[in-house]
Amino acid sequence: MIQVIGHTNPDSDSICSALVAAEWLKAARGEDTVALAQGEVTGETAFILDQAGVQAPAIYDTVAGQKVWLVDFTDLSQAPAGIEEAEIVGIVDHHRLGDVTTKNPLEAWIWPVGCSCTILYNLHKLENVEISRSQAVLMLGAICSDTVAFRSPTCTQKDKGAAEALAEIAGINLEEFCDQLMRVKTNLEGLSIASLVDRDLKKYPFEEEAVVVGQIEIANFEQTNDKLAELQAELKARCENDGLKLAALMVTNITTSTTQLLFQGEWSTRLAEHAKEDNMLVMENTLSRKKQAWPWLQTVLAG
Ligand code: MG
Ligand code: MG
Ligand code: MG
Repeated sequence: MIQVIGHTNPDSDSICSALVAAEWLKAARGEDTVALAQGEVTGETAFILDQAGVQAPAIYDTVAGQKVWLVDFTDLSQAPAGIEEAEIVGIVDHHRLGDVTTKNPLEAWIWPVGCSCTILYNLHKLENVEISRSQAVLMLGAICSDTVAFRSPTCTQKDKGAAEALAEIAGINLEEFCDQLMRVKTNLEGLSIASLVDRDLKKYPFEEEAVVVGQIEIANFEQTNDKLAELQAELKARCENDGLKLAALMVTNITTSTTQLLFQGEWSTRLAEHAKEDNMLVMENTLSRKKQAWPWLQTVLAG
């Protein structure tokens, strides 16, 4: 049995890619597979699963001693427990190459596109695997989510092409679907401060220390203005409790493409000259952590 699993604090792509890759491996390769997740799904992912008529993947236990396909990450800091004792047999990802290593030759599909599901769509075409309506909805939802409805600088022509083809297969109006998805994506109602920080938090090794960068996506800053102080306190607590040198949170307004970056920790001093006010800086035209915020942060942190 091959376990197919995405990153920690799963977003829609890591859930949908695991589900789709597991089915693709069954259909294209006759493999026995199971899609798993490293946590509960967000409201946005629940919306996509509901539209697809698909259940959320079960939460994994350990991958030790198992064959695994990794989807939507290759960083050990985002990997499931037991990864050192697992056999990584395949990867589908669209991030910079991380630090996982393998014991044996593997199959790796890593493309610089906006979403892992865009790669999976192309793998279906490559291997002549028919795409069902529910698989199409899963891939379409992930692509619209990861590319922020095609607005992110991570979005490529391959992502747009895949989304258009998938919308056709699913019988979905692409524009209406994107509007609905962006509404669910930016809905923060009922979420605690801690869950806002954890929602899309990624841990990165840096100078042999650990930093985390999270992201919440909103439709307007009024949604978060009265939460900023509490979010800062939560970031500060994370640094103290988890031994982090920096805990940062991108509060991204997807309507205006403006990101407020909140940050706490010892390395805050390295960002101070860019700060608009204490522990907060503003990044205009910034939607993407992967392509914009994190590369910039790495440069500034390195000094
Ligand atoms: Mg992801
Ligand atoms: Mg992704
Ligand atoms: Mg994302």
